[in-house]
This record gives sequence, structure tokens and C-alpha cells, in this order.
Amino acid sequence: MAKHNVTHKCGHVAQHDIKGGQPQLREWKLNELSQAICWECQKANATAAATEQAVAAALPELAGTEKQVNWAMTIRSKALASIEGVIIGWAMRLDGQPQAQRDHFKTITDSVKAALLAPTNAQDWINVRFEDFAAKTDETIRERLLALRAASKAK
Ligand SMILES: [Zn+2]
Repeated sequence: MAKHNVTHKCGHVAQHDIKGGQPQLREWKLNELSQAICWECQKANATAAATEQAVAAALPELAGTEKQVNWAMTIRSKALASIEGVIIGWAMRLDGQPQAQRDHFKTITDSVKAALLAPTNAQDWINVRFEDFAAKTDETIRERLLALRAASKAK
């Protein structure tokens, strides 16, 4: 193991541990690293992209330390993409159905989306970082539909 200072594409110098003895392999790894932006810049880019998405989707601000908030923002951003992907999939199945039915369904998916994106505490997002939001969205939509069906039958 040896520490190497690498000048990244962004101009920042970062230290990397390169394991293994093969000199050519080490050269290749160092070269690969130098052609990429540094980890700090990657994090900053992810935070900037997540902030942009949060503004576009009118998501609430998160509470926590700057580090927690930045991390939570990227987690929420990925969750948002998963949630929207599932909702689009469901909406596509309703394509060609009467407008009233599609509107009704949109009310359901809007409320599911709002509920899943409701947490405003950064730590809450960090705690659920490994959760499968696509599966959770699908499950929640199914639950709501079943509950509505049961309610309409009971009438
Ligand atoms: Zn950098």
C-alpha cells in the first residue's frame, strides 16, 4: 500500500492509497484517477444537482448540519427519481382510460408521493438511505387502491 498524490481533472490534489505491486497497474489506476474530478468535487456536484431537483420539485428544506443536509439531499433526490419512475409506470397502464379515472389515480399518486417525501429531518433520510423507494412506492399505491376498493364495496 502506498499513498500517492494525484492531481485531478478539476485541479485539486488528493491523496490515494493504491494497493498492489504491479507498477503498470498502479500507473493505470493513477492515470484513471487523474482523468476524473476529485471526490470533494463529485460530492459538491451531487449536492448542486440535488438542490436543483429539490427546487424544481418544490420539496421542503431539510433540517440538520450542513453535512447531514447535503447527504440527505442526494438520498432524497434518488428517492424522488425512484418514486416518480414507479408513478409514471402506473400512469402508463391507465393510458386510454377515462379522464376521471386518471385524475382520481393522480390524486392517489400525488398523496403517496407527498407522504414519502414528507420527512424534513436530514437524519431521517440518512437512516433510510438503503431503502428501496421504488418498491415502497409501488406497495403504498397498491395499499391505497385496496383500501379504496374495500371502502367502495362497504358503501
Ligand atoms: Zn476537485
